[in-house]
Amino acid sequence: MSKTADTVVIGAGIIGAATGYYLAKRGHKVIVLEKDFPCAGSTGRCIGGIRAQFTHDLSIRVMLESIKVFSTLKDELGQDIEWFQGGYLFLAFDEQREQAFRNAIAIQRQYGLRVDYIGPKECKTIVADLNTDGLLGGAWCATDGQANPFKVTYGYLSGIRRFGGEVRCGSEVTAIRVHKERVVSVLTADGTELSTRNVVNAAGPWAGPVGSLAGVNVPVKPDRHESLVTEAAEHLFNPMLVDYRPDGCYFLQHIGTGHFLGCYTPARLVPGHGTESTDEFLTEMPRRMVRLVPRLAGLKVLRQWAGSYEMSPDGNPLCGITPVQGFYVAAGMSGHGFMFGPAIGKLMAELIDCGQTSLPLDQFSLTRDFGQAEAMK
Ligand SMILES: Cc1cc2nc3c(=O)[nH]c(=O)nc-3n(C[C@H](O)[C@H](O)[C@H](O)COP(=O)(O)OP(=O)(O)OC[C@H]3O[C@@H](n4cnc5c(N)ncnc54)[C@H](O)[C@@H]3O)c2cc1C
Repeated sequence: MSKTADTVVIGAGIIGAATGYYLAKRGHKVIVLEKDFPCAGSTGRCIGGIRAQFTHDLSIRVMLESIKVFSTLKDELGQDIEWFQGGYLFLAFDEQREQAFRNAIAIQRQYGLRVDYIGPKECKTIVADLNTDGLLGGAWCATDGQANPFKVTYGYLSGIRRFGGEVRCGSEVTAIRVHKERVVSVLTADGTELSTRNVVNAAGPWAGPVGSLAGVNVPVKPDRHESLVTEAAEHLFNPMLVDYRPDGCYFLQHIGTGHFLGCYTPARLVPGHGTESTDEFLTEMPRRMVRLVPRLAGLKVLRQWAGSYEMSPDGNPLCGITPVQGFYVAAGMSGHGFMFGPAIGKLMAELIDCGQTSLPLDQFSLTRDFGQAEAMK
């Protein structure tokens, strides 16, 4: 096993895998260090939704790029990733939300996103079984979609190996050596020391503690989100449905298998790395799904789980350089890391390889003003 690398990537979730892949493709000798196994963190708990409907201009632009990448990733990685452009339908049940969607659409259109505000009748043409009681309308984008987080992440990791890189599982990074404010090596729990010029902190919800190893404050705070999957059903609809009511939820039907996957944001956030499931979610989530699509009544829940959203102070990613030369951060995806992954991976590889990026990553920098929160979280 090699003791040197051009770049060590910490974490084999979607962000570490994508960043490592595009660096390896550019000729970097890449070693990915993962304390558990690929997708052991948030990536393996994600439900696979992909959208460009954000309000932050860089998030929209990054997502337009990500969607471009997703649509050709099957050929790039040589494996099916279950990419399907079924759209996202955000639903408005009050005037304030309706106005917020209209404002967001005005921003999104500036960047070329084809998104419309549509009325309840048009919503029904997209989701025939939608309960439109009290519905004012929705923000509809047909080019959003879904893919399989495991297949995408494992595809990137295989690609790293194809380009001569390594992925080491069960390798927890316990120290990062810095000399004269420059990264020089990384140590793992078994005592191995790897010399390297570059280290990428792609540790997802653990990005804070990993940052501390290099003396860098990375303001990521995890909070727990639950999810479930139902048994498969006949095909009912294509898009992710997002209901922003205080007791709302979001869910999609997996296009290949017919299972429904969904989540909601708890009324009171549960801070920390919790992975425990609750009875409350198990009873409440199906109620919310059936309220929106009554035809789902009677469908059985197969499994529930929980994982972390890795929140930055403003709900936008933290990507770029740090005060320690050669130490980079690509974390704080704030619950959207799967969809951001392909574009963030490409941009981080550009930054590390040539110091410049095709989109202005400084808007995601560690030193930005965190005053403007993402409105479509
Ligand atoms: C219920 C739920 C649903 C979601 N749904 C969606 C969705 O529909 N669409 C979407 O885009 N996003 C979704 N997300 C968010 C998405 O899963 C995350 O934003 C994304 O997976 C973050 O990827 P990551 O690579 O940054 O982190 P992770 O996947 O957590 O990867 C970080 C890795 O770093 C490793 N690690 C940590 N510390 C160390 C160390 N010291 N040494 C070595 N390795 C280390 C961990 O073991 C982990 O494998 C969802 C999340 C949850 C919880």
